Amino acid sequence: MSRKRVRTPPPGHWATDTRVAHLGSGASDFGTMNPPVYRASTVAFESMAEYDRAYVERFGDLIYGRVGTPTSWAFEDAVAGLEGGAAAFLLPSGLAAISAALLSQLRSGDHLLMVDTVYGPGRAFCSNVLTRYGIETEFYDPLIGAGIERLIRPNTRVVYCESPGSQTFEMQDVRAIADAAHRKGALVMLDNTWATPIGFRGFDHGVDIVVHAATKYLVGHSDAMLGIVVTNEASRGSVRAWVDANGLCAGADEAWLGLRGLRTLSVRLARHQENALAVARWFESRPEVARVLHPGLPSHPGHALWQRDFRLASGLFSIVLHPFGKAAVESFVDSLELFAIGASWGGYESLVMPFAPTKIRSATRWKDPGPCVRFHVGLEDPADLIRDLERGFARLHETEGR
Ligand SMILES: *Cc1c(COP(=O)(O)O)cnc(C)c1O
Repeated sequence: MSRKRVRTPPPGHWATDTRVAHLGSGASDFGTMNPPVYRASTVAFESMAEYDRAYVERFGDLIYGRVGTPTSWAFEDAVAGLEGGAAAFLLPSGLAAISAALLSQLRSGDHLLMVDTVYGPGRAFCSNVLTRYGIETEFYDPLIGAGIERLIRPNTRVVYCESPGSQTFEMQDVRAIADAAHRKGALVMLDNTWATPIGFRGFDHGVDIVVHAATKYLVGHSDAMLGIVVTNEASRGSVRAWVDANGLCAGADEAWLGLRGLRTLSVRLARHQENALAVARWFESRPEVARVLHPGLPSHPGHALWQRDFRLASGLFSIVLHPFGKAAVESFVDSLELFAIGASWGGYESLVMPFAPTKIRSATRWKDPGPCVRFHVGLEDPADLIRDLERGFARLHETEGR
């Protein structure tokens, strides 16, 4: 029972949209376009010789559900191919991908440089877990660029980036950071969830290990939890060993949902970008709004970096309101009919979530006095979304005026 290799196009030969449609496909013996959902624990063999061969080849042949199935391999191959990485490892959540990537490279006594605008639970992981293993985390300013070199110590093993930053969307000069890190012998990791491999390819900018919350745009329909770690050739073995030793794996149905979502990723993202920019520009015209934190807008301080490095923006951005009371902001959010209040993002639907940046940073200081609200702009008609927000602002003023 050998693993049917995927019809992988030659690197660089096909355009991204073609690769999204074809990478990781053709894994069915029956000729179906998509691989079936292989729900597996035990995999039976015809003979001991076949078993021994499979065991030696381990990840080459299907030997046990935890090691993967043609369903999970198809999704891993597709994402690795899109990112331009050597291998990808599917994990049960984005946070599991972050922790596995970090722990596969760090050991007791190491120093980690972590971007101050990292995804909140990633920050908590450093503070609550890494410290217990004698790994020191130092948070750094996302705008540091080549200046990261000054912070790199002899025991700095990893420099971790997330661009744009969670919630507040600071753009990082990943190339400058990677060059400095490599000069000093440190590895570079990137959380590329916001842009997906379609918007930004980490390995083209010097990153060694890319992590994704596939839960977001790769799955794309808010119905599965998945994470993925994509490695270059040098880090492939250490990540594989960590994932294997810790018994990490994702469910077959989730892997299949990831592959299903991936096929429409580029069309969905193009629409998310278009809709989000329409809504973001409308926010810029509103007197209630102090700043719109969207790297695709020329007013954004990181816009030049975004233009230089990114192929597109996605549907997630934030606004900073002028100072309004908590009750007014809550009535604005509560009154929205098309924006659900909820964690996560990346599905087809619009979402809203107020947040407080001061609580989630330590190396930098957040200076804007007004409340912040994050939006995920979905695939609805943006004119309807804007009408909804307009009504919401009317409610905000009503409540503020009471
Ligand atoms: C949501 C998110 C994660 C975590 O993903 P889960 O699948 O929810 O665990 C990691 N990084 C970023 C940037 C995220 O937005």
